[in-house]
Amino acid sequence: MNRRQFLDILQPILTIGMAHSLLSLRKLSESLSDNKKEMPVLFIGHGSPMNGIENNPFSGKWSTLGRSLETPAAVLVVSAHWLTKGTKVTAMDFPRTIHDFGGFPKALFDVNYPAPGDPELAGQIKSMISKTQVDADHEWGLDHGAWTVVRNMYPDAKIPVLQLSIDYSKDLLYHYELAAELRKLRQKGVLIIGSGNMVHNLGMISWEKMNETNYGFDWAIKMNQTFKDLILKRDHDSLIKYQKLGREAGLAIPTPEHYIPLIYTLGLTTGKDEIDFFNDNAVGGSITMTSVQFAS
Ligand code: ZN
Repeated sequence: MNRRQFLDILQPILTIGMAHSLLSLRKLSESLSDNKKEMPVLFIGHGSPMNGIENNPFSGKWSTLGRSLETPAAVLVVSAHWLTKGTKVTAMDFPRTIHDFGGFPKALFDVNYPAPGDPELAGQIKSMISKTQVDADHEWGLDHGAWTVVRNMYPDAKIPVLQLSIDYSKDLLYHYELAAELRKLRQKGVLIIGSGNMVHNLGMISWEKMNETNYGFDWAIKMNQTFKDLILKRDHDSLIKYQKLGREAGLAIPTPEHYIPLIYTLGLTTGKDEIDFFNDNAVGGSITMTSVQFAS
């Protein structure tokens, strides 16, 4: 074979290769372009880690959502289970699956959710936030607040998933304002999920009632309704100052880590978003799975 023949063979390969790279580049820029329809924002009550592997009405709704929403370019989760000093964003190519719980069946520890990360998007998130210096994280991964939900939504694990940590030294107004700085991600095709529980009091849980589909103590049901009313009224100020909502609020939120993800989702909304509640159930008396979708 002479050089010319060699080049003749090589040419189509090069062309296909180049076209393929161009296509991938175009896909990437399209997927992160501003021309997309705005993605919804979700607050998801994640409840027990078992929801990650059980087929039940909660996980069933997550998988329905995954099939019905426009496919996102990436998913960003603010989970109740990643509390840090300072704010971090996962920036690895392949986040590990973290089994951050104890006393559950081996099947739950065997779960691996191999979704890729997106270091480039992590860099964009860092630069979008002016409120604080966000650190690129290479240690964390996907904790159960993230993967139990997202693996039900996107079982193929093809969509990049990132997490943003909660700076637990900050107050709720800080988190609300930080979230607002990320609002533009919705136009870039990023689905943002706050993953926690509005009412979350593990100390008062009634384990023998855990298998009942909708069992809530009076105070839990009352607070659930209060939270929903305030969300519908877009009264974010009252939701941020939840300590002023009475004795029941103290029972519903003994510590705020599962409530703060809701504050992130509120900060990401606009007055144009329609509000839909789902999985509006209490479990074990003192936890609500109540979740909400904001979509324009
Ligand atoms: Zn949790």
